[in-house]
Amino acid sequence: MGKVWFVGAGPGDPDLITVKGRRLIEQADAILYAGSLVSDAAMQWCKPGCEVADSKAMALEEINQWLIERACAGKTVIRLQTGDPGLYGALIEMVQALDKEQIEVEVVPGVSSAMASAAAAVESLTLPEVTQTVILSRVEGRTPMPEGEEIEALLAHHCTVCLFLSITLLKKIQQAAQAAGWSPESPVLVVQKASWPGEQKIVRGTLSDIRERCIAEKVTSQAMIILSPTLGAREWPELKKSKLYDETFSHRFRKASAKPEVSA
Ligand code: SAH
Repeated sequence: MGKVWFVGAGPGDPDLITVKGRRLIEQADAILYAGSLVSDAAMQWCKPGCEVADSKAMALEEINQWLIERACAGKTVIRLQTGDPGLYGALIEMVQALDKEQIEVEVVPGVSSAMASAAAAVESLTLPEVTQTVILSRVEGRTPMPEGEEIEALLAHHCTVCLFLSITLLKKIQQAAQAAGWSPESPVLVVQKASWPGEQKIVRGTLSDIRERCIAEKVTSQAMIILSPTLGAREWPELKKSKLYDETFSHRFRKASAKPEVSA
């Protein structure tokens, strides 16, 4: 019996796959990749004779069947997924089908597009005393949201919110943010095809104009939306310093070299 590896390909740049993911591609007998979202440049590492197929036009049932047939033939099989396999990747639907056949599975994490989008724009998703929380979510479209996860409810936290699969729903986001008390001037970041060589687009705007800016830039698919009170911090004149690097703060790897200032 073979084995199926679910490998995170990363956000687009083939160099952003993990070393482990790349090694597995070099060893695999069969690779099924999501062609619309995973760069076929990753296939340059596969060994001669490795069977490669694109799942773009396949339904989930066909994908499962493809993986099962090859694993049952004793092959080392890779399902190459965009970003990280555990985010909006139908991972469990596939794993359950393989479990039924008692096929061994393993998951190799990947760099999610949420992280790649922040990196592209040189933004930090957390900042001391600004926000220490990141929500990864989506806006309700055809897929219903579980109770309590409506976009208004998530935005009420005023933390960093990264929205997948929602670029056509910017109007809804604007309305929800306003209802949750975000100022119309709040910065919003949209990154399309983050990390894809020559294709990445960064659109910055405010809650009130981000939709028009995205339309003007023709950013209507494959984009990450980030709302965060940390956006633009690179330009701020003053930052609260992270305690980790504060010289008055001891931690496991360093003793404080100075006494904290005593405030009156
Ligand atoms: N597992 C993936 C997400 C798959 S869902 C991950 O971890 O990134 C597909 C959605 O992810 C897209 O609608 C878009 O919102 C986002 N996405 C995927 N690749 C992207 C990229 N390179 N740049 C920006 N957003 C991306």
